[in-house]
Formats: sequence, structure tokens, C-alpha cells
Amino acid sequence: MNKEIFYKNIREQGGRITKIRSEIIKIMSNEECLISSNDLLSQLKMLNVNPNRSTIYRELQFLTKNNVIIKNTISGVDYYEMPHDHHHHLVCMGCNSIIKVEISNHLEKQEKQIAKQNKFNIINHSLEFYGYCNKCQA
Ligand SMILES: [Zn+2]
Ligand SMILES: [Zn+2]
Ligand SMILES: [Zn+2]
Repeated sequence: MNKEIFYKNIREQGGRITKIRSEIIKIMSNEECLISSNDLLSQLKMLNVNPNRSTIYRELQFLTKNNVIIKNTISGVDYYEMPHDHHHHLVCMGCNSIIKVEISNHLEKQEKQIAKQNKFNIINHSLEFYGYCNKCQA
């Protein structure tokens, strides 16, 4: 998915492409994985965009609601990422680092079965593995 598709989706939802909105999309589309709202804020500051926290919060809510970005709350911290590719995360309980992992052909069968059993239309899932990274095991 490229930026144009995201912009088109937003316009179709009746949303405008404001300066701050396009900057957030630009930053997010360069990220491979989860980014916290604090990291996003410092990246915006480096670009000389200085929105206040509530503006960022509202933007992130809007983009999440319109499926432009995905929200993932890990250990009480809200993270966001673009759905470039489907993947999962290793979360270190020692240093809070997050490592991106890809698992091919997983859960497809189970997902179909769960959907059928519960008459539930599954859109997405998230899966995090909690433990200790190599450094923290020492
Ligand atoms: Zn990720
Ligand atoms: Zn998955
Ligand atoms: Zn660690």
C-alpha cells in the first residue's frame, strides 16, 4: 500500500489532508514497525512541526479509526504502525524493546474456524510474545 491509497481513503471518509496529518503519514510510512506517540512527537519536532499532545492524540485516533494505522497497546504504552506487512512482536519484559517477527502461514485455519464458530467477521489479529531478549537474559 502506498501513501496515495491512504490519502484517498482519508478523503473518502470526508477527512482533509492537513499538514500535520500528512507529516504523520510520511513518518509512519517510513517506519518498519511500532512507534510510540512520544517517538512520533520527537520526529515531528525534528521536522519543525510542533503540534501539542492533544492534536497528535486526535490525529492518531482519526488515522486508527480509518484503518490507516494500527494501534497496539503493549505494557500500557500505545504504539502505532502502518499495516505494510503482517507480522508479530517479541516484547522484552526487561528493557521493553520490541522486535519484529514474521511467521508464514500461521493461524489461517484456526482463524477461519474461530470466525465460523462465533459468526464473527475477523479483520485482523495481533500477537505478541513476551519474554527476555538476549541482552536481558544475562
Ligand atoms: Zn510491528
Ligand atoms: Zn498473524
Ligand atoms: Zn531486553
